[in-house]
Amino acid sequence: MDIHLYNTLTLHKETFIKKEWVTMYHCGPTVYDYAHIGNLRSYVFADILRRTFEYNSYKVHQVINITDIGHLVTDGDDGEDKMIKALKREGKPFTLEAMRDVATFYFEKFVDDLKSLNIKLPQEFPRASDHIEDDIDFIKILEQKGYTYPTEDGIYFDTAKFTPYGKLGKLKETALKIDDQTDIQSRVGWNSDKRSQRDFAVWKFDAKLGWESPWGKGLPGWHIECSVMSRKYLGQPFDIHTGGVDHIPIHHNNEIAQSESAYDGPLAHYWMHNEFVTLNNSKMSKSAGNFATLAELKEQFISPLAYRYWLLTAHYRSPANFTLEAVQGAQNALIRLISLIGNLPDDGFISTSYKENFQTYINNDLDTPKGIALVWDILRDKQLSDADKKATIINIDEVLGLNLIAAKGIAEETVKDVPADIAALVEAREQARAEKDWVKSDALRQEIEERGFVVTDTKDGIRVILK
Ligand code: AMP
Ligand code: ZN
Repeated sequence: MDIHLYNTLTLHKETFIKKEWVTMYHCGPTVYDYAHIGNLRSYVFADILRRTFEYNSYKVHQVINITDIGHLVTDGDDGEDKMIKALKREGKPFTLEAMRDVATFYFEKFVDDLKSLNIKLPQEFPRASDHIEDDIDFIKILEQKGYTYPTEDGIYFDTAKFTPYGKLGKLKETALKIDDQTDIQSRVGWNSDKRSQRDFAVWKFDAKLGWESPWGKGLPGWHIECSVMSRKYLGQPFDIHTGGVDHIPIHHNNEIAQSESAYDGPLAHYWMHNEFVTLNNSKMSKSAGNFATLAELKEQFISPLAYRYWLLTAHYRSPANFTLEAVQGAQNALIRLISLIGNLPDDGFISTSYKENFQTYINNDLDTPKGIALVWDILRDKQLSDADKKATIINIDEVLGLNLIAAKGIAEETVKDVPADIAALVEAREQARAEKDWVKSDALRQEIEERGFVVTDTKDGIRVILK
């Protein structure tokens, strides 16, 4: 079955050309702080993309880069370096070593977040700070070809020399025209040394903190790392480049400009972008201070997998407005799903017609909302045997990644609204304990566990948690 994906480069859904290996690069986090749940949407989306290809028997080579240098608080060339901001915040010395340590700490936290969301890890997590020599070689090519010019504070890419500049998202043809007066420039800040305000730094001087280079001590511009590391690990062109929609106007158009200029060919065939998670209908972001982390969700007894379920109920190209109530609703649905499936017998067969339906949905630009609705349809089906229902849903879960069968990952979270059948068993166990019928109470505990829940006796009373 063909896979159709929306390509920001053409603004159309395109049929993916069949091949054995699919290469994908996902713009990774700037590891100066914990990721927020908006950032994590980008990687749940990338994971669904990967799983969809695998479901269709492709092999996938995935890279998520780790930005541990050079990303300023804006996406352009002004403002403070985010890593310096982290050093200040944490009272660390301004050295490359301290920067590396801070980055390592948040990188590890990021990987923990990915794991708790049941995201398959990519083959590579290249770090920007490990690729300075490669960056310098790349900038030298741009320089030799006449695409760069020096200013007081760095070496800049001359966008006037790349005629298709702004082709991603067809910025040139839409209201967001790229010239010196547009709002894209107001976002990157005015710099009178630049030939055009849309030009961007490929190397920024920094006499104190940075690496030696033919142009002077400093740091590579943020966009360079993605051009360099994607090509290094995946070749050029590779198949799919992803990121959030905020990367379209600046970061990804700049990657395209420098990579195509350096190597005279496209960087990637497909460019795919997830919409934002919003809070009160504005973009969730660190700088605006309106964000939540997975740890904060856990404090509210929301499991990361419930957040994943909630994300999948929206299409990745639609904004998803976060509210605690909405995610709680998703958690209740997920708990119910796990409990219903846990009660179904094993050894069934996968229903080919449902599998085909699911594949049609997911291959149509990753329609996860329809995929989730289908799971509930399967459970309601009066014709299909219980064992076949279970086998079919477990097969579909290879893409959804909700861990429906194992119910792992929701471990250790308190379940506020336990399903009625479990509540009844818990009550019966209490009764048995009151009657000092230890054999019965143990048997009931075991039954509860077999259904995917654990009862614990705490000083505040009974707690029921998912196993
Ligand atoms: P950053 O660390 O800022 O480079 O962001 C990491 C990823 O998260 C990028 O792909 C961004 O486009 C994406 N992102 C940032 N904010 C949001 C948001 N509120 N919703 C969805 N994705 C986001
Ligand atoms: Zn990037």
